[in-house]
Amino acid sequence: MNAMQVEAEIKKSQRLRELKIRIKNCCCRYCGGSLKLRRILYGNLSEGRVEIFCTDCDRIEYGVDREIFHVAKHFVQEFDFNMYPDNAGNVRTVQMNTAKVCDIMAWGCKNLGFLAYDGFQVPVDISQGIIGDDVVLRNAELEPEPEIETMDENMIFGRGSGDSTCL
Ligand SMILES: [Zn+2]
Repeated sequence: MNAMQVEAEIKKSQRLRELKIRIKNCCCRYCGGSLKLRRILYGNLSEGRVEIFCTDCDRIEYGVDREIFHVAKHFVQEFDFNMYPDNAGNVRTVQMNTAKVCDIMAWGCKNLGFLAYDGFQVPVDISQGIIGDDVVLRNAELEPEPEIETMDENMIFGRGSGDSTCL
């Protein structure tokens, strides 16, 4: 292995470490569901690239910290927020609005120095009125080494992909 290959390997393992932290802290910006790691095999490459997936939405989804999702969801419901007025007011539109508010809030928190790749940098005291009693923000039981599913690129071809504008 030459120096450049070593560097590439280090970058890859750092990225994987960050992705593992993300699936622990974050949920889908659209549906709030848990995120999983999937290795997507492109063409003839044997290794592929690991991406974060929402299995409920069946798409690549970078996710957002759970606290932000719940505040964003509450905001959209409470203020009837809709930046897609041409869309019918269905579940999908509510999810798109929630995802957009998540992006805005995450961007703001990141630029205020509250949020980094490994989560909040300050203690968060989320209002009980927003989060409700039945929401579990952190699952202590979560396995430390999450499983990585393998998926062929053709299986996801044509499906929507999440963007990473928030972080
Ligand atoms: Zn989802």
